[in-house]
Amino acid sequence: MTAANGVWRNWSRLERVKPVRVERPPTIAAVQRAVTAAARAGLRVKAVGAGHSFTGIAVATGVLLELDELSGIVSVDRERMRVTLLAGTRLHEAARLLRPHGLAMENLGDIDVQTIAGAISTGTHGTGSRFGGIATQVVGVTLVTADGELRRIDEDHEPELLPAVALSLGALGVIVEVTLQCVPAFVLTALECPAPLDETLDDLEGIVERSDHFEFYWFTDTTTAVTKTNERRPGGERTRPLSAMRRFVDDSLMANGVYRVTCAASSMVPGIVPSVNRLADRLWTNREYSDLSHRVFATRRTVRFREMEYAVPAERTADVVRAIDELTRSRGWHVSFPIEVRFAAADDLWLSTASGRPSGYVAVHRYHREDHRPYFEAVEDIMREHRGRPHWGKLHTQDAASLADLYPRHADFVALRDRMDPDRLFTNAYLERVLGG
Ligand SMILES: Cc1cc2nc3c(=O)[nH]c(=O)nc-3n(C[C@H](O)[C@H](O)[C@H](O)COP(=O)(O)OP(=O)(O)OC[C@H]3O[C@@H](n4cnc5c(N)ncnc54)[C@H](O)[C@@H]3O)c2cc1C
Repeated sequence: MTAANGVWRNWSRLERVKPVRVERPPTIAAVQRAVTAAARAGLRVKAVGAGHSFTGIAVATGVLLELDELSGIVSVDRERMRVTLLAGTRLHEAARLLRPHGLAMENLGDIDVQTIAGAISTGTHGTGSRFGGIATQVVGVTLVTADGELRRIDEDHEPELLPAVALSLGALGVIVEVTLQCVPAFVLTALECPAPLDETLDDLEGIVERSDHFEFYWFTDTTTAVTKTNERRPGGERTRPLSAMRRFVDDSLMANGVYRVTCAASSMVPGIVPSVNRLADRLWTNREYSDLSHRVFATRRTVRFREMEYAVPAERTADVVRAIDELTRSRGWHVSFPIEVRFAAADDLWLSTASGRPSGYVAVHRYHREDHRPYFEAVEDIMREHRGRPHWGKLHTQDAASLADLYPRHADFVALRDRMDPDRLFTNAYLERVLGG
C-alpha cells in the first residue's frame, strides 16, 4: 500500500520505494492512458496488487498503478461456470461475488487478501495433489500491452499464449481482466490434529493421495507434525462452522496473538525457542469443522514474517523436510516459526513452480525482526540439491541462468517478453534478475 508520503512498502517490509508517481486508474481506458503516458515520458510502469510478495517483484520505480478501483465482476457464463473479474479484485471479494451464482474458486492459498492479478502473476497456490495453483484456473486474460493496446488471450484468441500469460510475473503488460474456470460452490470438512512427524513423512505420498487437501506444519525442536486435512463435500451439505468465539480464540489469540508475543520474546532470547516450540506442540488440540470452501482454505495472518518457499518433485518432499531437520539440529538453530508443507498437481504453465511435475512445497519462515538470511541460505542449498523451484513471490537468490535450467520453457518466456515488451516498460530489478535484462 502506498502511504500518504508516496512511499510504497510491501507486507513483509523488506521492500520500499518512492515511485515517480502513483496512479489509481478507475477504468480500463485509464490504465491504457497511464501506460501510454509512462512510455512517452520514458518511465517504467508497474501494477501492484496487495503488496503481499516478499520479493521485490512488485517494486515500481516509475509509475505505480494501484488497481483497487478496478474490482468486481465483469461477466458470468453460468453454463460454463466461467467468471470474468477485474484485475484488482481481492480473493475474498471474489469468493463473496461468486456465491450468489452458486460458484467457487477450485482451490485457494492460506490467505485471501491478495488481488486476483497479483495471485496468478506469482503462482500463488494452496494444497492438494489433484489441484493446481490459482493460475491453473485461468481461462482468459486481458492485458494492456506496452503500446497501450488491449490484448485478449483465451481459447479463441492466441490460445497458445495462455500458459505463458496466466502466470507472467507482471512482465508482459498490465492485466485488467481475468476469466476463471470456477466450480460449483462446495463445502470443506476440516480436520486439524497433531501426528508424529516420522510417521507422517514415512507415509507422506499415501496420506497426500488419500485426501483432497493435505498440509502440515512442523516446528523445529519437536517431533510432531500439525496436520490439516480438508475434504470436499457437495455445496448443499450442512456445515458445522467454528463458532465465532472459537475462531477468535484459536486464530486471533492462539495462532496470532500469543504467537506475536512468543516470537518477539524468542527474537530477544533465542534460548527459549525450544521450550516455546515444545509448549506450542502440546497446546495443539484437535479441531474438526466444516464450512463453505473459502472460509476453510483461508486464515488470517497478523504476525509479520519473512518466507522462502520451494517446489520440489513431490516424491522428494519427505527427504527435504528430513534434511531441514538435520540442518537445524546440526547448526543448533531454534526457529520460532514453523516449516509448512503442501502439494500441487503438475500443470502446463510455462513458469509455474509445478510446471510438468507433481510438486511438494516446503516453506520456511522467520519472524520479521530476526535475520532470516543464514537459515534461508542453508535451506536454499538443500532445495537446489533437489532441483527445487522458488516461489516467485517469496525470498530466494536464483537468477535467470539458474532458473533457465529449472524451467524447460524459461527461454520461450524470455523470447515472448522480448516480443511483447521490447523496451522493458514493465521491468524492474527483480525481473532483470530472474528473466534477464
Ligand atoms: C501472509 C502471507 C500469506 C501468503 N500465503 C500464500 C499461500 O498460501 N500460497 C502462495 O502461493 N503464496 C502465498 N503468499 C504469497 C502471495 O500470495 C503472492 O506473493 C501474491 O503474488 C501476492 O498477491 P498481491 O496481490 O499482493 O500481489 P503483489 O505482491 O502486489 O504483486 C505480485 C506481482 O503481480 C504483479 N501484478 C499485480 N497486479 C497486476 C496486474 N494487474 N497486471 C500485471 N501484473 C500485476 C506485480 O507487478 C508483481 O509482479 C503469501 C504472502 C503473505 C504475505
